[in-house]
Amino acid sequence: MPAACDPDALLSGLDAEQRQVVLAPAGPVCVLAGAGTGKTRAITHRLAYRALTGGLDPSRVLALTFTTRAAGELRSRLARLGVPRVRARTFHSAALRQLQYFWPQVASGPAPSLVTAKAALLGEVALRLGVRHDRASVRDLAGEIEWAKAVEISAEEYPAAASAAGRQPPAGLDPSGVGRVYHAYEQAKSARSLLDFEDVLLVTAGMLAARPDIAAQVAQTYRYLTVDEFQDVNPVQRRLVELWLDGGRDICVVGDTAQTIYSFAGADARFLTEFPARYPDAQVVWLERDYRSTPQVVSVANRLLRGAPRRPTGPGLTLVAQRPDGPDPRVLDFPDEVSEARWVADEATRLLTEGYAARDIAVLVRTNAQTAAFEEALTARSVPFVVRGAARFFDRAEVRQALTLLRGAVRADPGRPSGGLAAGVGDILATLGWGPQAPGGAAARTRWESLSALVGLAEELVAEDPEATLVDLVADLQSRATAQHAPVADGVTVASMHAAKGLEWRAVMIAGLAEGIVPISYAESPDALAEERRLLYVAITRARDQLVLTWAAARAPGSRARRRRSRFLDEALGTDSGAPRARREPGSPRRPTASCRVCHGPLRTAAERAVGRCAECPGGADPRLVEQLRGWRRGEAERAKVPAYCVFTDATLIAIAEHRPTSPAELLRVPGVGQVKLERYALAVLEICGTGGTIEDATGDAPVGFPAEIALPGATIVS
Ligand code: ATP
Ligand code: MG
Repeated sequence: MPAACDPDALLSGLDAEQRQVVLAPAGPVCVLAGAGTGKTRAITHRLAYRALTGGLDPSRVLALTFTTRAAGELRSRLARLGVPRVRARTFHSAALRQLQYFWPQVASGPAPSLVTAKAALLGEVALRLGVRHDRASVRDLAGEIEWAKAVEISAEEYPAAASAAGRQPPAGLDPSGVGRVYHAYEQAKSARSLLDFEDVLLVTAGMLAARPDIAAQVAQTYRYLTVDEFQDVNPVQRRLVELWLDGGRDICVVGDTAQTIYSFAGADARFLTEFPARYPDAQVVWLERDYRSTPQVVSVANRLLRGAPRRPTGPGLTLVAQRPDGPDPRVLDFPDEVSEARWVADEATRLLTEGYAARDIAVLVRTNAQTAAFEEALTARSVPFVVRGAARFFDRAEVRQALTLLRGAVRADPGRPSGGLAAGVGDILATLGWGPQAPGGAAARTRWESLSALVGLAEELVAEDPEATLVDLVADLQSRATAQHAPVADGVTVASMHAAKGLEWRAVMIAGLAEGIVPISYAESPDALAEERRLLYVAITRARDQLVLTWAAARAPGSRARRRRSRFLDEALGTDSGAPRARREPGSPRRPTASCRVCHGPLRTAAERAVGRCAECPGGADPRLVEQLRGWRRGEAERAKVPAYCVFTDATLIAIAEHRPTSPAELLRVPGVGQVKLERYALAVLEICGTGGTIEDATGDAPVGFPAEIALPGATIVS
């Protein structure tokens, strides 16, 4: 028996509080633990210890997580501890399996299919109702409907509930307009006998509530429940947990209220904080020793949290660093985003030459749109990288081609290639031009990285199971593709802060820390700002040894330096100690009398003062839409033989993009648009605005958007 499989060895790797979690008797256990304090370690060790000492049957455990990646991580940690047969699943996959298995007992006819193209379905509904149906509006509508379903609010209840919750209705609608779209979407779905991602949870909960016999069978199958990141549970998931328990009490929940980053999607950290009141006999354990990060990183994280208004207090909410000292976190400002990205790529190169592995380094940003600059800069320096959040990986042409080839190879021979799985995969991918040496050129390099990631995955599979076959690899790839989870290659991670949750790297560079980006410009309410702060806290606490925080004073080279660094930086760095401070640029602008409501930089022209925002700030305007408008203006100016600003000034164009008018009346309300220009240009401008988008929020594995429900495999496996 390896040391890890010895129960005493398991205990010896834990501190006193972690041991308390492991040794707590059967019954409710609640672990309130900060970032990096060993939450996941405590859960896995508790399960392993009980399994190894005969206190629990591992095949009767249901360990719940929020992402397939986290489920995979739990499974492999448990396997390493000598407990390989635990079911670690996402809420959705657990619910889907139950629904498919019990469907014949609760309904006649085949189980409904899953929505595979929610955007198309919702877009069709929006078009029919005469509502904005561009990609961004449809996506926002989907997010709103997903929120409503996560908090169990029907289409009829939506208008009142959304107003009460202070939601901002998307697509230029008022709350009742969104309610009408929601209602029509539900009707369209049921007319086609379809279920979406959220329905899977709702219908499963409905089935278990209506059929106590089925609930009892499920509870019999899963006697022990564990939920990681319980602060991210939404009301329907909490209801499911209770239904799965079916009066049972063997439940262990672990969470950190400081890391709640999905409230916008319906998560409610009160389910974690109220757990002890709900189960008065629960063992409650606080962990506060941070084993992940150096004291320097921990103090930045603690300071950021300390600055939160209405910060919850109590034991365990301030991290206590356990590791030896490391370098001071650095804060760097740059004149523009291009030089920021170049510096980050140079720093990654330096770390690599210092002996860091590429997989030890991460670049984290707030929005998906920000990753491109870093991808480009890393490519220019031939630094391998992996973009997390990974819809892109499985969408890449070479990855799709590789999957087709690998599936073909499985059909021809499902066994293990004679030279070993990884070598066999390399041979198959050689027909796509892959070789062990990286080629030159950005595009070729990117393609090579993708294919190498697939070979790397084969190597990982073999490391876990020397008997792994091509069938296993293809199945693994399929489930990752459906879950939008890219295999981990040996590359620098470029990821959104959301997608970084639960992960750790030796060196973390957090870029783009300017006002308007962090906190994001549309986070206006105190709650939204608090969530932005927690998001940065999550990002900071990913760093083990090195932390670098960067921001750029302007978007493009040559533009005026108008951005200000994120307000959170000042708080995280502190003003009361020798904490690191940002380098001040010589000649940086003095605080203006009129300031931009996004970046708080100076407003220099009358037009900027009119819109209350400087021309270079992201505001709510999609840069692509601004570009489209600029292109149109160029043509218009050439045609009329007038300078471009005579059509519309830059400030007006940006204001139009920000307001996204849907009618002439709305266009007229945009500062800089008068009656004459309205009559001349309204048609063209409204047409362009109808097809633009908004800056997309990077949500990683968040339950918002479309990839997730496409991801649900049509599995009929039942445990
Ligand atoms: P997060 O909040 O990011 O989810 P977490 O609380 O789940 O973090 P883990 O990922 O379990 O924390 O642990 C963080 C790091 O600390 C890991 O590298 C883990 O191996 C290490 N660690 C945890 N507990 C101990 C311990 N008692 N001794 C040594 N290392 C530990
Ligand atoms: Mg964890």
